[in-house]
Amino acid sequence: MKIIMLGAPGAGKGTQAKMIADKCGIPHISTGDIFRANIKNGTELGAKAKEYMDKGLLVPDELTCGLVVDRIQAEDCKDGYILDGFPRTIPQAEALEEALNKIGQRVDFAINIDVPDENIISRMSGRRACTSCGATYHVVFNPPKKEGICDDCGAELVLRDDDKPETVKNRLRVYHDQTQPLIDFYSARDVLRTVDGTQSMEKVFDDILKVLGA
Ligand code: ADP
Ligand code: AMP
Repeated sequence: MKIIMLGAPGAGKGTQAKMIADKCGIPHISTGDIFRANIKNGTELGAKAKEYMDKGLLVPDELTCGLVVDRIQAEDCKDGYILDGFPRTIPQAEALEEALNKIGQRVDFAINIDVPDENIISRMSGRRACTSCGATYHVVFNPPKKEGICDDCGAELVLRDDDKPETVKNRLRVYHDQTQPLIDFYSARDVLRTVDGTQSMEKVFDDILKVLGA
């Protein structure tokens, strides 16, 4: 099954993608995590991506599309995958569609997690991200067992630089301008399914499983 997660920054894409990946045994591919790993490892891609991420802007399509198109051809993707944070622009969606068309495949579901802007700022300022494995928590809605420490791998949890309110406002603007049009793009292909992302994580997950028939 090939699944795309859509939704504003902070809507819960990563949280749900991880749960679906665990349940369905398919890889969770987050472009944000890939860029952050590159920044941490000091690569050239990481240095370029950081310039945009720090400002709440999208990393250019030229740096993003190729890496995803390569990644989905890896052996572990043969039974499907969940794309989290990609595509984020119409050209990215077209690049993905073209790559899939070439091998006679298509996206099965684009899950749109719907959360109004008013809820986003508090979600983002309370988000804590693991510096090692990419797991995310929330200080109120999903706290780790031990404050500041990842339950999964024991590494330190931090507030991401781009989760500070000034940057979140930019990211929301960018989302509405560049990413929201994907809702129509996937609706026209009859694969869009919208779930109410203001519910508890468990309820959102239940709704997604129903959509997937899993
Ligand atoms: P995204 O990947 O869409 O940017 P995340 O999955 O990282 O979003 O979620 C953003 C923040 O909101 C995290 O701190 C997460 O723990 C929290 N969160 C996710 N889903 C819910 C939910 N249904 N209710 C409350 N908080 C949530
Ligand atoms: P995320 O972890 O999905 O919230 O992404 C964090 C940041 O990484 C975004 O604000 C962008 O700057 C960058 N990014 C992640 N995915 C993409 C993408 N598909 N296209 C462009 N930029 C991206």
